Amino acid sequence: MTASRTAPLTRSDYAPGQATVHSDPARLARVTRTLRAAGRRIALVPTMGALHDGHRELIQHARRLPNTIVVVSIFVNPLQFGPNEDFDRYPRSFAADLAACEEERAELVFAPQVADLYRDGAAVTLNAGPLGDELEGAVRPGHFGGVLTVVAKLFNIVGPDFALFGEKDYQQLVLIRRMARDLDFDLSVVGVPTVREDDGLALSSRNVYLTGPQRTSALALSAALAAGAHVSAGGADAVLGAARAVLAASPEVELDYLELRATDLGPAPAEGDARLLIAARVGATRLIDNAPVLLGSPDQDTDASR
Ligand code: AMP
Repeated sequence: MTASRTAPLTRSDYAPGQATVHSDPARLARVTRTLRAAGRRIALVPTMGALHDGHRELIQHARRLPNTIVVVSIFVNPLQFGPNEDFDRYPRSFAADLAACEEERAELVFAPQVADLYRDGAAVTLNAGPLGDELEGAVRPGHFGGVLTVVAKLFNIVGPDFALFGEKDYQQLVLIRRMARDLDFDLSVVGVPTVREDDGLALSSRNVYLTGPQRTSALALSAALAAGAHVSAGGADAVLGAARAVLAASPEVELDYLELRATDLGPAPAEGDARLLIAARVGATRLIDNAPVLLGSPDQDTDASR
């Protein structure tokens, strides 16, 4: 039986203060539509699960938005993984993820199966445009088309007023802002600064793949960013030189790219706000990180050193 578009919500649709799990897109769409009609605002936090403190930070940020109900989606999206990537072994921990959502008081959890979201496959998908082929996209062809396709679907299903994404995946954040603008999604995309371990390592679901020695090697990424940002007053060459010097001391870290770009990921400006981005492999694990850099201005510090 299909519930009408306007049927009142039951406690199995939405229970204030509890995390209600949905897998059916149409049903969740009806729940969020009804809540919005009642004057609530919806904040969406898309994730692939294996939740850590970075994800929790996004949920906490969402909860601080006034009058807002937080929807966390948990979906390992096959469309954004290449044929030789880690889709099959990507960490999945639904029970712990649900407990984290409850602790952080996210009231709706959307956890569809692949067949719930891609009912008839995925014949029509989005193209991420030229930026989708650069940086991460150069190493992971089709990745951002897959990301934007699932995020657009989530936007259409959930109808959020706010969608929160981490700066950890900086290119993803820039592309989602661009998609929202180019495709006229009526919502605010909110970027949240990267949460790090005390020693600087950016939290990532993929960190569980690292052995102890590999984790130590992985610190070279955030250390390189911090070293670059530290000398940002000297301009682009100084930043890249300092970052490369740190990486040279860790030959076991195989660099995919180290690039300085504008904050919108166009060419870096000579002076002012820029972004330093890095991707590298440590053993079989691919890690990415990035940091803000203020070019040509003295006394600059960076998140990456904290
Ligand atoms: P994922 O589950 O890896 O797809 O990540 C879901 C969301 O969490 C994305 O918006 C990520 O950018 C964000 N995220 C992942 N790691 C961190 C982190 N260390 N700090 C802040 N946000 C993060």
